Amino acid sequence: MRKARIGIAFFYHESHSFSPMKTELEQFRNEGYFIGDEIFDAYHGTKTEVGGFLDVLNQHDDIEIVPLVCAAAVPSGVVSREAYAIIEEQMLRTIREAGRLDGLLLALHGAMVAEHLFDPEAHLLGKIRELIGQDVPIATTLDMHANLSEKMIEYTPLHFGFKTYPHVDMYEQGIHAAEALLKQLKEGAVFYAAFEKLPMILPSINMRTAEGPMQKMMEWAKQAEEEEGIYNVSVFGGFPYSDIPIAGASILVVALNPEKGRETARTMASRYWEVREEFLMDLPNVKEALDLALSMKADKPIALADISDNPLSCGSGDTTELLREMIELNLPDTLFGGLYDPVSIEKCRQAGVGNQVTLSLGGKISPEFGAPVVVDAKVMAISDGIFHNSGPFNQHLRVDLKGAAHIRVGFMDILLIGRPMSANDPEMFRHIGLEPGAKRILGLKAKNHFRAAFDPIISQVIYVDAPGVASNRLTHLSYRHIPRPIWPLDEMKYEPKTRGKAAWKQ
Ligand SMILES: [Zn+2]
Repeated sequence: MRKARIGIAFFYHESHSFSPMKTELEQFRNEGYFIGDEIFDAYHGTKTEVGGFLDVLNQHDDIEIVPLVCAAAVPSGVVSREAYAIIEEQMLRTIREAGRLDGLLLALHGAMVAEHLFDPEAHLLGKIRELIGQDVPIATTLDMHANLSEKMIEYTPLHFGFKTYPHVDMYEQGIHAAEALLKQLKEGAVFYAAFEKLPMILPSINMRTAEGPMQKMMEWAKQAEEEEGIYNVSVFGGFPYSDIPIAGASILVVALNPEKGRETARTMASRYWEVREEFLMDLPNVKEALDLALSMKADKPIALADISDNPLSCGSGDTTELLREMIELNLPDTLFGGLYDPVSIEKCRQAGVGNQVTLSLGGKISPEFGAPVVVDAKVMAISDGIFHNSGPFNQHLRVDLKGAAHIRVGFMDILLIGRPMSANDPEMFRHIGLEPGAKRILGLKAKNHFRAAFDPIISQVIYVDAPGVASNRLTHLSYRHIPRPIWPLDEMKYEPKTRGKAAWKQ
């Protein structure tokens, strides 16, 4: 019996329309760019979407895995026309060269924007459909922050959004996508999609699934999945920094019973609209946040999350307002990082470990959010910046910071890193000899993902409203392309109206 040939691929980017940094091919190469068999080495045994695809497919003797292209970059500005074209072409070429495919598993983000495309994922799916035809099943995984479009649903009903934030179920959604694909392929299951796009863009600050409105949404989604005829319910928060006509939150129901799917999508959308106010939060500014931290008694560190410059929300990782205040306070047992500053790392290297050096820290990419801070620092350690995540978020994945330096300024420890990267895993600090769990106050370039690994070693998180490109204040962004009216920028009414034609049949 001939084996069924299933292609696997990964094209992942969250693109910030207001970021000054365009995302080039180099950023994909830095994070992960693998072709063909390299994919097995990079993702086998990882708790990623592709790790999930591999684990399901490997259980079947009658399936041949066809590894295509995996390209992921850290969230940043829009993907350059050239970088997108090169990766898309590589993807399409490997599909052409692979010959016949019986199915395709694609790990996508859903909030990618290219210089010339508002909806590059739909564009890619369209190109792939032209190559492999309409009948070959495709299943994707999508980030919870996907700005999902109706176009994507037209190419396949099988999309599986992450149900956790911090995203610690990438692997599980990879498994779900692969299982649904096989159900269609082997059992002839017919899936329908019911899709409801809501006129709202939500800040992600209060989207964690451990508490708050998104926890409620995910609980309702799981309850709905227990019902007859419902296969999967995804709740997408959307990504509010993509200035595109398809920006916004949405509900996608994958159903075996189309009418039931539409009804569930409508109900879920109404509930989403009802809890919308709970997503908005007022945050303390830098001084207020530090005062608050100093007033707290805690037996474990207090983390100040510099959310407006979180690299995983496309921050440059080098804004300085929180850093400057912490340096001025000069408290013992404080740690700040990782600050993106390859120039200062190079100066540390030249000065040598144990020596003093004058540095101009940060403020180079986005000086409008704070000028560089000039300091006399002692070089404590230098590293190549390579470590493996130990916490639940992207567990075991190799991270390459492109160099790192531990410096001490007064009483304060600072970690400099060679490319923008959120402080999501304590190994970022431990690999160079810093123990974040032993500090009193941590200033972290992070937002919510870090809590998967840091919550056990910290006592409190204070989200700080410092200036930055990923600020919680959406009203300060000069949108040009999002649909209007849209909540919370505009006051408006909304009725769910999932249409029959949105349901899609293989
Ligand atoms: Zn996300």
